[in-house]
Amino acid sequence: MSQNSDEIFKKVISHSKEYGFVFQSSEIYDGLSSVYDYGPNGSLLKNNLKNFWWRSMVQLNENIVGIDSAIFMHPNVWKASGHIQAFSDPLIDNKDSKKRYRADVLVEDFTEKLFQKAEKEIKKAAARFGDSFDSKLYRKTNSRVLEYESKAKSIMKRFSKALKNDNLKEARQVIIDEKIKCPISGSTNWTEIRHFNLMFGTKIGSVADGANDLFLRPETAQGIFTNFLNVVKTSRLKVPFGIAQIGKAFRNEIVARQFIFRMREFEQMEMQFFVKPGDEKKWFEYWKKSRMDWHKSLGFKTQNYRYHDHEKLAHYANAASDIEYKFPFGFKELEGIHSRTDFDLKQHSKESGKKLQIFDPEINDNFTPSVIETSIGLDRMFLSVMSECLDNEILEDNTSRVVLRLPYSLAPNQAAILPLLKKDGLPEYASKIYDNLKFDFQLVFDEKDAIGKRYRRQDAIGTPLGITIDHQTLNDNTVTIRDRDSMQQKRVNSDDLNKIIRSATSIEALLKKR
Ligand code: ATP
Repeated sequence: MSQNSDEIFKKVISHSKEYGFVFQSSEIYDGLSSVYDYGPNGSLLKNNLKNFWWRSMVQLNENIVGIDSAIFMHPNVWKASGHIQAFSDPLIDNKDSKKRYRADVLVEDFTEKLFQKAEKEIKKAAARFGDSFDSKLYRKTNSRVLEYESKAKSIMKRFSKALKNDNLKEARQVIIDEKIKCPISGSTNWTEIRHFNLMFGTKIGSVADGANDLFLRPETAQGIFTNFLNVVKTSRLKVPFGIAQIGKAFRNEIVARQFIFRMREFEQMEMQFFVKPGDEKKWFEYWKKSRMDWHKSLGFKTQNYRYHDHEKLAHYANAASDIEYKFPFGFKELEGIHSRTDFDLKQHSKESGKKLQIFDPEINDNFTPSVIETSIGLDRMFLSVMSECLDNEILEDNTSRVVLRLPYSLAPNQAAILPLLKKDGLPEYASKIYDNLKFDFQLVFDEKDAIGKRYRRQDAIGTPLGITIDHQTLNDNTVTIRDRDSMQQKRVNSDDLNKIIRSATSIEALLKKR
């Protein structure tokens, strides 16, 4: 049965809660808006995603090192980086519904609908023409498709230009001219657009002592720039090289919706890659491709990923492209790849008075490297993985099962240990197996309910292997091992379990795919 995207998204949210992946923060106090906690299965999955990213970056690249910098930073960092001045969203209110929106998101959603209309035309034609249909040619030549696409592009261009020139009147005019409606009231009765800074302020020290105003970092990148000299000196790195880190970031998102897609406290996995000035174009292309390959190595549907090259650039960038994923609510940014030029290092040099440069023996002089950044939101990746993997499979006997088809090496638990009955010494034997394997694997031990029900429970949290201990085990030390996806069972000697689980679930196979 096909479901609409709204239903799919609701299922992802309710499944995340029901099976201990994601909870609303402070739920017993009615929750804190756009802040979420990860439960027992969610935190395991999140750690596996982090591990996959960290090892892909730091372990597999001899010229990338990792750091872990503090969330609190000197207030001048944000002056130098331009965040105090320019890290804001353009907000607009609808006077009828009294709802507040990000003007850029309103326009993006509007143009996305035009692109979707074009896609619908192509799908309709494909159904009409059958096998002989050439979708590339149709996209290039059909007048309706061309019209939708060119309209969407020209709206985005006009709007981006207005924002780039900080011309908020013209940006608003785009919304008026295109008759973009408030999704709640359906009206086009809009206020002016205003800027709103996204950084959370806080204070250090007691107020009486002359407290210092601080900000919670809105991105992890600045901790990399401020440690640039420390890392260069202690790691003996030569350009090109990268510094990676995973950490929390905070943004006072006004229009924070869509579950863990847009949060006020979230986690980023960022890597800044330092290159010789002039080489940035080459390395920008390199990382753009490399990051897309990384996403695709997960084996998800390739049509769910696409690039979106930016017209409107952040204040520090000279090129930017997003890797977008098709979330249940449409294609949205999952990761950003930015060519940040030498902006940050130069700004910090100016503000701190320290020379953030490298010596180049070839030219016998110091230079400021240019930077390519790759920045992915861990929580957004988590959401993409949940959306992609949650499946309601119809079985041959017309019953169905909910299965979370996580890549085996990312699942919260690698295997479930299941004594068939809660008697006859089976739980004790199963415990021994559990104790033998627990040093190498994250396991679940489950002895409650009928075995079929327990298999379903493990399917729903994505556990790749179910290991059942029955009466035969007591005689010959063999167990049944059930594979999540095929549901096939086979009998194996329990002495071989370590090898079998490792070969099915190790992350090495995933890392080698790239
Ligand atoms: P958006 O346009 O969606 O607000 P952005 O362009 O501001 O995102 P970046 O500043 O490039 O995002 O941040 C890098 C990555 O951090 C994003 O690709 C996204 O995955 C993640 N991210 C940014 N803001 C949030 C948020 N509020 N909640 C969760 N993840 C976020």
